[in-house]
Amino acid sequence: MSDLKLTTRAEDFSEWYNQVVLRAELADYAPVRGCMIVRPYGWALWENITAALDKRFKATGHVNAAFPLLIPRNFIEKEKSHVAGFSPELAVVTHGGGEELEEPLVIRPTSETIIGHSYAKWIQSYRDLPLLINQWNSVVRWELRTRLFLRTLEFFWQEGHTAHATAAEAEAEARQMVDVYSDFAWNEAAVPVIPGRKSDAEKFAGAEITYSLEAMMGDGKALQFCTSHNLGQNFAKAFEIRYLDQNGILQHCWTTSWGLSTRVVGALIMVHGDDQGLVLPPHLAPYQLVIVPIFKTDEEKAAVVQNAQRLLRELGDNGIRVKMDDREGMSPGFKFNDWEMRGVPLRLELGPKDVAKASVVLARRDRPGKEGKTFVPQQGIATAAANLLEEIQKALYNRALAFRTANTIEPADYGEFKKAVETGFAFSWWCGGSGCEEKIKEETKATMRCIPLDQSLGVKPLAQGGAGKCVCCRQAATERAIFARAY
Ligand SMILES: [Zn+2]
Repeated sequence: MSDLKLTTRAEDFSEWYNQVVLRAELADYAPVRGCMIVRPYGWALWENITAALDKRFKATGHVNAAFPLLIPRNFIEKEKSHVAGFSPELAVVTHGGGEELEEPLVIRPTSETIIGHSYAKWIQSYRDLPLLINQWNSVVRWELRTRLFLRTLEFFWQEGHTAHATAAEAEAEARQMVDVYSDFAWNEAAVPVIPGRKSDAEKFAGAEITYSLEAMMGDGKALQFCTSHNLGQNFAKAFEIRYLDQNGILQHCWTTSWGLSTRVVGALIMVHGDDQGLVLPPHLAPYQLVIVPIFKTDEEKAAVVQNAQRLLRELGDNGIRVKMDDREGMSPGFKFNDWEMRGVPLRLELGPKDVAKASVVLARRDRPGKEGKTFVPQQGIATAAANLLEEIQKALYNRALAFRTANTIEPADYGEFKKAVETGFAFSWWCGGSGCEEKIKEETKATMRCIPLDQSLGVKPLAQGGAGKCVCCRQAATERAIFARAY
């Protein structure tokens, strides 16, 4: 919090990001390099994210539980590609109670193994299926290059783990969670994500199919919003998760896992933020509206504060997350800037003249300056504010979608492709070959983000299927993929 001007996004996007995280008081650095302290304002935002998701998970039949932080090391080694993928990132506990442990323990990097172990005990017959459990926790992955929210050594998330009787049911579950996450992203986070399938090179260690939601940040780079994995029978076989089917035959289960983390806070910052700071979607903002009383004399103060308190109650009673900024010794201008930095969607300004006229000024965070200000009568203020908040929610989504569309190019050739990934997404025909994927990565630093499930990207007239030529090798291709540089 200070009067110093932010670095602009155009000057240095990465520096702008760091400043916003610190100055909006979302998070702070920790004594252990790579760890993150989530401050109360950042945690309030995360709580709103978790509430919106948890409601959706429960509505689709999932329940919450808690599994241990410590996992026997041999668990991780049971699934071949899982251990290969996670070994370099493991934090290992070798001592406990002052003694060297007989078998080292790992701090969970994710919980497929320990949950698989429990599922093997809990599942006996087809009547026990499907088993649909989620947990909210934190995990540790020993990352070397870290950024607050985007990549931290320890991060907060949810991980869903399900077991099913058939391959089709597991696939339906993995796809259902893609829909659940998409609904959250579009309608709560106002982020126009692209749901799609990962390549073999980019999929989760141990998964048959990985789905992800990809979003474009304000600098044109991609960020993986969350993932949903169809694990096939890989973990079921490694952990002997089996059930007796209706004919009394012992079968391996089919499992899935899916997760969304505090990275999403980073996405919100980079999708919606501007040169004044954070811009939060009303559905997730810790405070949707802040009241700033304006006065000079004590007499004015008495009248303004009394009126402001009445509005505070009325707005709160009507379900709006509202905050009164009654800090002493700070000018209204300072307070305006401060709440702009923190991305509060609506500011209510109330001065002596407004009190006399029984009106207020509402200022929209997404439209700075005079353009975003309206005089609103105090009568019916809660309805007016609620309507404006919904308008802002939609406006943020539309703005992000317009930006993504403007910066997504369907390149005609490799030359155009190389240009496209410098500033945004290339949506290109791809043969599916890992050779082309690798070559592209080496030559352009762009990775295959996903093969969109909707090949029209939800924008153009539906053009499912079809065929083209791979942007890299010119061989026949049947699908188009999003390539981009990524966080
Ligand atoms: Zn190719």
